Amino acid sequence: MSVCIDINGVCIGGGAFQLIAGPCSVESKAQIISIAQSVQRSGAALLRGGAFKPRTSPYDFQGLRAEGIELLLEAKKITNMPIVTEILSERHLPLFENVDVIQVGARNMQNFELLTILGKTDKTILLKRGLANTLSELLSSAEYILAGGNSNIILCERGIRTFETHMRNTLDLSAVPALKEMTDFPVIVDPSHALGIARLVAPMAMAAAAAGADGIMIEVHNDPENALCDGAQSLTPEAFHDLAKKVRKVRQAL
Ligand code: PEP
Ligand code: MN
Repeated sequence: MSVCIDINGVCIGGGAFQLIAGPCSVESKAQIISIAQSVQRSGAALLRGGAFKPRTSPYDFQGLRAEGIELLLEAKKITNMPIVTEILSERHLPLFENVDVIQVGARNMQNFELLTILGKTDKTILLKRGLANTLSELLSSAEYILAGGNSNIILCERGIRTFETHMRNTLDLSAVPALKEMTDFPVIVDPSHALGIARLVAPMAMAAAAAGADGIMIEVHNDPENALCDGAQSLTPEAFHDLAKKVRKVRQAL
């Protein structure tokens, strides 16, 4: 069994399963607080939200950056939910002082300098699998964090690039049982970035729970059509509520 990573009183792994939910990017105070409160009511234990966004095009919304982290901290104060947000550069580390979980996104999985610096912190690191990386490479990246003395690591399968183009990526759910054989780190699944299509997210979230994931991370937006980032894969709060119910049923069946 994986080890429990204690995030401000919320345990991921060691038999404890958690839902992490929130928008792709923090857009405003009203947006993040309303989404935080609704996903919390539906059973999410952690709030996600991007402040620094790794965008393919430099002309797309890059996130509210430092202000985005401030808004996440306000949502944390109101809801008491630990927050998860992505770091793009070690230069920004001071801004993450009160962030509970620092995400290293798929595009930075092999940014070894960043991993080394995060290994010297005591923060929980959510390490996402790269778009074209093997499980063995993912574990080598985790090793960079571990080498600095930080063992608070959660691994995340978020879909890989294959020849299939209908979905945004191909969700490799076999990664879940395979990683659990290879390591004690908790393994979570992000079906939102894997699928890229909101209506396909719930079935794969259930499948991830059935495969033994220690948690699931879902993008939720109060107004997906007008989201500044990843609207097509974002669930409404109502759809997330339904997903959370279904995932709980799968967990009970296990
Ligand atoms: C995200 O979680 O917002 C994100 C950018 O994910 P990924 O690194 O998996 O693309
Ligand atoms: Mn996103």
